[in-house]
Amino acid sequence: MSSESQLRADIVEIGRRMYMRGYTASNDGNISVRLGSDRLLMTPKSVCKGFMTPDMMCITDLDGRKLQGDRDPSSEMLMHLEVYRQRPDMQAVVHAHPPTATGFAVAGIPLNRAVLAEVLTTLGSIPIAEYATPSTKELPDAVRKYIKAHDGMLLANHGALTVGTDLYAAYYKMETIEHFAHISLVARMLGRENLISRDEVDRLQGLRDTYGIKAPAPICAIDEVMRDQANCQVVESPVSIGSRLVPSDNPEGEIRLTYRELQQLIEDAIRSLR
Ligand SMILES: [Zn+2]
Repeated sequence: MSSESQLRADIVEIGRRMYMRGYTASNDGNISVRLGSDRLLMTPKSVCKGFMTPDMMCITDLDGRKLQGDRDPSSEMLMHLEVYRQRPDMQAVVHAHPPTATGFAVAGIPLNRAVLAEVLTTLGSIPIAEYATPSTKELPDAVRKYIKAHDGMLLANHGALTVGTDLYAAYYKMETIEHFAHISLVARMLGRENLISRDEVDRLQGLRDTYGIKAPAPICAIDEVMRDQANCQVVESPVSIGSRLVPSDNPEGEIRLTYRELQQLIEDAIRSLR
């Protein structure tokens, strides 16, 4: 168990990284970690996460009562408290607005396609918690539905949330989500996405056990009987015989042209008709 001073320093460093990577702007985002069995160390409200100092942090109890600190705890404290309540196995919570992942959250597109083996073995799927007004009790209510089975999720029209067995584990999951969102966006802009077949997903599920990767729920394919996202990490993964990668037939797999490119194509077509 890290000392309190180390945890304060870790929160400062993670806040700095999030701000430098553009995961937060202005005073967005918040970070917390368990301090023993009955207290939390948390970022304060209304500070830029890129310029925090260790003395700024708040200490609260598990009901959110402030025990120590000159500043008030994060405006999203209710969401953090709910996560700790639902996940006694987790030590840290990170919330940010990384732009590509948040773009998916705004578009209402979950990151649940079986495309990257490493994301499947670690996070499984990344669902979207329903829209909730930030800083209200609605947000913990929305998060509660998915947090028992997922270590990371998108928050509709808001951002992303991750948990971990320590601060860096939670932060790195945020990096993974944003990286995965970026790769997914590029693949979809290119107009094609090959999905990992269901047999291969089963093999990856087995690798979790082999390598001792702890996950709060099993991965399951979208049309399996057990597809309740409260208990299962649901992924889109087609059945395929003999092939481990299967071209996606998703309707979004289109080539997008600029107006000028489209105009050029039309002109070329007209010219070829003459
Ligand atoms: Zn937020």
